[in-house]
Amino acid sequence: MNLKYMYIIALALAPMAGCAQAPETAKDGMNETKKDNPYYSRTDKTKLDLSDEFWQSVLSEDVYYIARKKGTERAFTGKYWDHEGLGDYYCGACGNHLFVSDSKFASQCGWPSFFEAISETSVEYVRDSSHGMIRTEVVCGRCDGHLGHIFDDGPPPTHKRFCMNSVVLDFEPKD
Ligand code: FE
Repeated sequence: MNLKYMYIIALALAPMAGCAQAPETAKDGMNETKKDNPYYSRTDKTKLDLSDEFWQSVLSEDVYYIARKKGTERAFTGKYWDHEGLGDYYCGACGNHLFVSDSKFASQCGWPSFFEAISETSVEYVRDSSHGMIRTEVVCGRCDGHLGHIFDDGPPPTHKRFCMNSVVLDFEPKD
């Protein structure tokens, strides 16, 4: 049994063991994992070039799996696929500002979808030929973490669909 499945089973069993606990939340909305990451920032735009060992040491297992191992959460399971609140979406690994709720739309694909990123440099694009398909991968413009893919079937005005993983997004509601 690999680590991923052991982790999922552990998550499923946690409530039964009476040890389920919401992550402790700091005043600024960062959870304990992010406080351990000295590079986490919602304002610093400096490009990061950090080792896989570093990311494994500061990210939770699910964020690490998506952001650094290019994993994909199961459709309709993420916390934001049908989320409608007004606010901002940040990279769950490094804090980079990625999207605003005004660009989010209901795509019914099971993953949070946006028609544009907050700026031209907030994300970068990488050709992805894995799994027998040619796709365009979207990575964080600051930490290079995998976020999802972009497709040409989105709504106006861009007709793009940024198909993202909830696990690597942090939503901050507007006051
Ligand atoms: Fe990032």
